[in-house]
This record gives sequence, structure tokens and C-alpha cells, in this order.
Amino acid sequence: MTTLIDLRAKGEGQGEETRPRHPEKAGRPDALSPRKPDWIRVKAPTSAGYHETKALVRDLRLHTVCEEASCPNIGECWSVKHATFMILGGVCTRACSFCNVSTGKPLPLDPDEPANVAHATATMGLQHVVVTSVDRDDLDDGGAGHFVETIAAIRRAAPSTTIEVLTPDFLRKPGAAERVIDAKPDVFNHNLETVPRLYHSIRPGARYYQSLRLLDSAKQRDPSQFTKSGLMVGLGEAKDEVLQVMDDLRVAGVDFLTIGQYLQPTKKHAGIDRFWTPEEFKALETIAYAKGFLMVSASPLTRSSHHAGEDFKKLRAARLAAQV
Ligand code: SF4
Repeated sequence: MTTLIDLRAKGEGQGEETRPRHPEKAGRPDALSPRKPDWIRVKAPTSAGYHETKALVRDLRLHTVCEEASCPNIGECWSVKHATFMILGGVCTRACSFCNVSTGKPLPLDPDEPANVAHATATMGLQHVVVTSVDRDDLDDGGAGHFVETIAAIRRAAPSTTIEVLTPDFLRKPGAAERVIDAKPDVFNHNLETVPRLYHSIRPGARYYQSLRLLDSAKQRDPSQFTKSGLMVGLGEAKDEVLQVMDDLRVAGVDFLTIGQYLQPTKKHAGIDRFWTPEEFKALETIAYAKGFLMVSASPLTRSSHHAGEDFKKLRAARLAAQV
């Protein structure tokens, strides 16, 4: 069976043309997935807070990974005005097979984007903000300068807000990651996403050891920064492989691990191999704590930025407790 691919207005509200979000996936056969179990179902977003967040995001022409990645938690997060801002535009130069962010040739950077993210952070009264981005392999610095500007703009507009960056891998961009680390975000997050054996099919443009080295170098360069990484399960990985990734992350000094269930954005994306049960997630969480992570969030609907503000407070408390 084949399905028409997802069409959606690129840069909604900005007068841009409607184009396929994933032209590179158009010719692929549909990938079948098992039916969603009960523990995955979420309610459609309807609250007033959700609509207020949506209006603000539109007014400031911002992108959020909440929408772009079709996050199942959007109703819950946006109703309490927690959104994850996606900078460097809305079009990614990679074509990962798990990701719903549009792929193609990106537009030039929006010079107002750092100030607009800062304005939204202050207006929403966020105590903790998560800033992520598309991959911009077309830029000499991979977008690092824009991350630095965004961090500085948030510090000016909302000095008490803690900042978490969820960065690309800056593959083949010498010096780029260092610039972001030196801008001193409170949390440096980079998701490994999956086990090394599946990189060629799930993250074909990335390299497992590059991603691991990035996390290691962030911790080496500034040990005061918390480091964080995330994994999806349900793509065909074995439990032993997940445990090996945990060990690799601990060797790289990573403080916080998130693990969630992969959900297939469209039938043209990688199929779901299986749904890990809530009990299996609990077991992963227990093992991860035993391996020495300061914080672990593992559940079917865990996402990198889910409850990031509350988790940051717990992370800080866990470090203090470990130092006593
Ligand atoms: S979990 Fe993260 S990406 Fe998903 S809606 Fe919440 S803030 Fe957005």
C-alpha cells in the first residue's frame, strides 16, 4: 500500500507555498506499525492555555518542535505554557527516518528569531526554557552563532530563566559546539536517539561516536553544565543494546537520560517494531539509576523536553545531594 505524503504549509502564516514536508520519502513504500496500545493514547488539545500558547507562537513567527515533531504531549505542555522553541528555521537539511520536521533547502536565518524567542520566554513567564533547532549543514557554523545569540537574548529578557539547549551534532563544523558550550546554557542536551546498530537507517546523516564525543566534550569543557541525552525505543533495538548506550553515556559523564517510545509520524517514516510496556520502561529507569545517572525519565510518553522545568529542579537537587 502507498499513502500520499504529508502536505503542510511551510512556515505557516508567512505566506509561503505548500510543499511536501518529506519529498525524499515520497517514493518509499508504507512502513506498517502495530496498533497503539491503550497506554499511548492522548486527548486532543482543547484548553484555553493551549490556544494562548498557539497564538503567541504564531504572532512571533516561531517554530516549535512540539508541532513540527507532532509531539503527543502538546495538549498537556501547551496548556501550562510550556513549549520547546525550534530555531534556525523550520526546514532541516537532514532526513532522519524517525523525524517529522520538514526536510529540504532551508530559508536564510531570521535575524529577529533570537529576540522573538527571548520575548516569548519572558511573555510566557517561563522559569526554564528549552531551545532546539533543525540541522543546518548548509551553514559554516551549523547555526552555533544563532544559538549563542538566542541564549544571550534570553539572558537579557528573562535573567532568572534557566536555559536548556538541545543541539544538533555539529558534524564537520569545527569549533561550533564549543561556541554553544561557552555561551553557558544551564543544560547541554544532545539526543543519541537510538542504538549505534540502527544509525544507518534511523539517523543516516549522523555518526554515533560523533554524538557521544559531543556530549563528552561539553562535560569536559564545562563540568558545571548539566549534560543530557535521550533515546527512543521501539525501533528494533535489543535491551542489551540500550544498556550498552547507557554505559557509553555514563563514560561521557552524561547526567540526565530520557527514554521514550518511538511513534511513527507518517507511514513513510520508519515503522514501529514494537511498543515497550510501562513495566519495561520502569525497569530501564531502575537500571539507569543503578548505572549512576543523576536523573532518569523513562516512560512511553517521555520526550526530551517533557516536564523539563520540573526535571531541571530535581536535577539540581540531585547534584547537591550527591555532593553532600
Ligand atoms: S514534550 Fe517537549 S516537544 Fe512535546 S509538547 Fe512538551 S515541550 Fe513540546
